[in-house]
Amino acid sequence: MAARILIVEDEEPLTMLLRYNLEAAGYTVDSAARGDEAELKLRESTPDLVVLDWMLPAVSGIEICRRLRAQPATAKLPIIMLTARGEESERVRGLTTGADDYVVKPFSVSELMARINALLRRAKPERVAAVLRAGDIEFDRERRRVFRAGREITLGPTEFRLLEYLIQSPGRVFSREQLLNGVWGHDVYIEDRTVDVHIGRLRKALSDSGERDPIRTVRGSGYAFDERYQK
Ligand code: CA
Repeated sequence: MAARILIVEDEEPLTMLLRYNLEAAGYTVDSAARGDEAELKLRESTPDLVVLDWMLPAVSGIEICRRLRAQPATAKLPIIMLTARGEESERVRGLTTGADDYVVKPFSVSELMARINALLRRAKPERVAAVLRAGDIEFDRERRRVFRAGREITLGPTEFRLLEYLIQSPGRVFSREQLLNGVWGHDVYIEDRTVDVHIGRLRKALSDSGERDPIRTVRGSGYAFDERYQK
């Protein structure tokens, strides 16, 4: 059962971009372009997570969030608020209104995807697949173990998070900066080269017995997980 995500956003190109990426990641997506439309949809059925824009026609995202929190049925509904740059001073208000997380526009889609995955794992673990499979690699999030063709692979905590990040979007190329943001977080200062070091360790661990290297280096761009890839 795929998790259902409601996108409430009045910028149509952004809604389309998010819908495309979320559906590609296996989620079921619904959307609303106005605040009142969102409230109607939310009364009809409760999704597993809401991506809620702050500034909306008719009813603001803040107001929707406040109303959702006031009702027992939706008091704990996972909500990620989208805010525009310049509204950062209002961030605190967003959090006290009850959003679980917020993302400042413009943001990278992969960053928002990582936040959505993280929030769903925290709030609705049963809705997020515990075991990811790609080629002969089995990634068990719950038990925090990785297997390749049945053989257990020992990974350090950073390599584990790096693989988790990459394996969720097979074939997709991530820049070093995206990997730094997604795996290490925004607030840490780390050199780009650190990513290369950990990618090297991950590769070595995954292909220790001469198996195919599943990580593709894209010159000038970054890295991708690709189970069909052979160096
Ligand atoms: Ca807006």
